[in-house]
Amino acid sequence: AERAAEIDYVFKVVVIGDSAVGKTQLLSRFTKDEFCFDSKSTIGIEFQTRTIVLNRKRIKAQIWDTAGQERYRAVTSAYYRGALGAMLVYDITKRATFDHVARWVEELRANADKAIVIMLIGNKSDLADKRAVSAEDAVEFAEEQGLFFSEASALSGDNVERVLEADRGNPWSGF
Ligand code: GDP
Ligand code: MG
Repeated sequence: AERAAEIDYVFKVVVIGDSAVGKTQLLSRFTKDEFCFDSKSTIGIEFQTRTIVLNRKRIKAQIWDTAGQERYRAVTSAYYRGALGAMLVYDITKRATFDHVARWVEELRANADKAIVIMLIGNKSDLADKRAVSAEDAVEFAEEQGLFFSEASALSGDNVERVLEADRGNPWSGF
């Protein structure tokens, strides 16, 4: 366990996107390097943390997960309050989850800080043979909307670390 005194900054990051796209598994991979095969839908747990060191500062990313309130407009504005970053997740094998990304961006623009950094994540890249969303479509949307973008897999762990890279405009990149 780390003592609070050793932490220089705490950053809140929210994870959003449709149900079953893999938000909770991404979070688990990101904070514990685990994937849970028999997980049920999220209940109760509000956030998990991961500490990263950047420019000799210890930064604690406090990453909030939705508690199964992914229905349109069911996530309350309190969830977004104070967030410096958002991970907006869709499933590359489910077209509808990508079609809904625009709504999630609207929701962020309406509720979150104007300067929030948004990372669009196309999860389940391990299922590329069942792909229903091309990377090109996602890149185009991300460029239009000013989002960072990566495909990733919570299952294999592929690219999950990319969302931590300091040169990609993450909330902790200014430090
Ligand atoms: P959430 O509702 O967005 O939090 O989604 P979950 O994290 O609960 O995951 C939904 C389902 O997708 C579960 O059955 C997971 O095992 C599965 N899943 C999550 N991430 C991946 C991934 O990267 N690859 C594959 N193949 N399945 C995944
Ligand atoms: Mg979940």
